[in-house]
Amino acid sequence: MDIVLLGSTGSIGTQTLDVCRMHNIRVKALSANSNIELLEKQTREFLPEYISVFDEKYYSDIKIRLADINVKILCGEESACELAALKCDRVVNSVVGFAGLLPTLSAIKAKNSVALANKETLVAGGELVMRALEENGTSMLPIDSEHSAIFQCLLGAGENKLSKIILTASGGPFFGKTREELKNVTKSQALDHPNWKMGEKITVDSATMMNKGLELIEAVHYFRVLPEQVEVVIHRQSIMHSAVEFEDSAIIAQLGTADMRIPIQLALTYPKRLECPAKKLSLTEAGTLTFEKPDEDVFGCLKAARKAIKMGGNAPCIVNCANEAAVSLFLSDKIGFLDIGEAVNSALSSVKFINDPSLDEILYTKKAAEEYVFSRFKQGEI
Ligand code: MG
Repeated sequence: MDIVLLGSTGSIGTQTLDVCRMHNIRVKALSANSNIELLEKQTREFLPEYISVFDEKYYSDIKIRLADINVKILCGEESACELAALKCDRVVNSVVGFAGLLPTLSAIKAKNSVALANKETLVAGGELVMRALEENGTSMLPIDSEHSAIFQCLLGAGENKLSKIILTASGGPFFGKTREELKNVTKSQALDHPNWKMGEKITVDSATMMNKGLELIEAVHYFRVLPEQVEVVIHRQSIMHSAVEFEDSAIIAQLGTADMRIPIQLALTYPKRLECPAKKLSLTEAGTLTFEKPDEDVFGCLKAARKAIKMGGNAPCIVNCANEAAVSLFLSDKIGFLDIGEAVNSALSSVKFINDPSLDEILYTKKAAEEYVFSRFKQGEI
């Protein structure tokens, strides 16, 4: 089999290549944002036919570095879409943020099967993406560990309807803290996740619980359930990756170590389950598993996400893009931790609501939400 891997130098990208290495999966194309050194190394090892760099300023650098290798090099925003449309067995989309949406749509239009790690694709363009999947008769497999778990729990369910999804959340580094205690937390505290080693954006999202909010929206679209059917449960150990409850009250859960190579591999090799480099779970070593309710008053991002998916239309896109803008400000030490939730909630009530948005309207919403957050910052309101 062969894959096109978008976002190859990030956390999911490098772990996808671990799986490819183990199972001799051919890598047809790689794309990266700006980590040129690692992209060069990956190209030399996996010898793809194509690579692309999102940021055009790195084009000449990578071209010189790989002058001795036979590889076609593309660049710019459009290039990930071009790679996503190449004929292959799976397009793995591990691009970070809204930038993943257009490549996902491009892959679906080319009738490629998508392995999706970019949750923002379904958050910002949920209806568009689900419609495109239906129209093109192609499949999308989740890489996000919770959604992979839910997908696995539903295997063999047949026509039986689920009554509830139990979406587990680690709670991040700030679980149990009050708003007062979160006022002055620093970037390095937010980036110190207890269980998962991930990229910076998702780690901050995990600390604010926006990550769970985005996953709630992702689940509503992907599994076609109502927002009320998704219960977010804090599970500090990250052993149970999510569960589903059926109408007869039976709950089926998926468990494993906190290693993304398990869901990544399944998304590549499904329906086959092959040996995986991840450590096996010992239940007796894991010991006690705990489950608690999240505090949506402290974690305002989760509340905003729930409100947005109930509103529908472009509301989830507003929340997603306002969050991306706020997180970028937080990561450059310009705003405080609690300002992220504040920015997201106020963007949701201020940016123009559009019911059933077109792709152009989604792109407009992205700009409007970002501009709203950046202008509030410039005016000293956050
Ligand atoms: Mg997840």
